[in-house]
Amino acid sequence: MRYIDFHIDTLMRWLSAKATSELPSNVDLWTNDYHVDIERLIKSNYAAQFFACFIYLGEDPIFKVSHYDDALKAIDIFHEQIAKKPEKIALVRSYQDYLNNMNNNKLSAFLTIEEGGIIDGKIERVDELYNKGVRAITLTWNYENCIGYPNVEYKQKDSGLKPFGIEVVEKMNDLGIIVDVSHLSDAGFYDVHKYSKRPFLATHSNSRTICEHSRNLTDEMVKMLANKGGMTGINFAGAFLQKDGKSTVDSMVAHIKHLINVGGLEVVGLGTDLDGIGGELEIGSAGNIHMLSEAMERNGFKTNEIEAVCYKNAEAFFKRFWA
Ligand SMILES: [Zn+2]
Repeated sequence: MRYIDFHIDTLMRWLSAKATSELPSNVDLWTNDYHVDIERLIKSNYAAQFFACFIYLGEDPIFKVSHYDDALKAIDIFHEQIAKKPEKIALVRSYQDYLNNMNNNKLSAFLTIEEGGIIDGKIERVDELYNKGVRAITLTWNYENCIGYPNVEYKQKDSGLKPFGIEVVEKMNDLGIIVDVSHLSDAGFYDVHKYSKRPFLATHSNSRTICEHSRNLTDEMVKMLANKGGMTGINFAGAFLQKDGKSTVDSMVAHIKHLINVGGLEVVGLGTDLDGIGGELEIGSAGNIHMLSEAMERNGFKTNEIEAVCYKNAEAFFKRFWA
């Protein structure tokens, strides 16, 4: 089985640790003790991985420069890491890049930003990020920013995109950067649906019907997402999977089943959130991702359905979005 994962936080987990403590030089994106490293992605036969550059607006930037400059610095380090073994992994800037990587047996790396607030009201930064290779932006994290409002405990659920946020969505549409609505307020979701001319993603969100949480999507949202050609990625965080907060493969399968029932087979993918989530995880390593496809098989999913969720839906999304 192959896999495509829309969201992990390994890059910033590593860089934050590096900034605050002495890390052995062999700890990097290629090899580490975290949930994900590139060697394990390759071993597990991933076709593509989205690497989020997550910027935390709530504290001093990790490189002691501005949040935006922090992101640029992290992006440079990300490119250096990828360039270490160009025969094994390559950045994706277009659908053709993805196909080329498949043909050359390389892991595809997508660069994403988690926290649109780093744009700080400067629309030209969207162009700059595009030129740096960014192909998806999570509009908000858990703070209000220049684009819109988060969905923390539904506090701002009825606040939609700001006028500048609508401008950002249009700019991202024009350039070909995927809009990611995970973390965004409910009204923000509806605005993206209204204003986005391209399909969009909730890179790491589950079903609110199966697990009541503001980070998850209502059935209505799942239908709207599907009608627009979008997808949601199954998040492995226990709090978004079930009431008792346990992250189990069975709970993931329950979300997958429901999301397919509501939005159709094409709407579901993976957005593990590994290295951005804590607690006890039944799948706490990219090396064990096969446990998910095995659980789907045990639960009666057919091979074509397992392939769809694990990677083929994402491939079809790339084609719809960029081709
Ligand atoms: Zn997140």
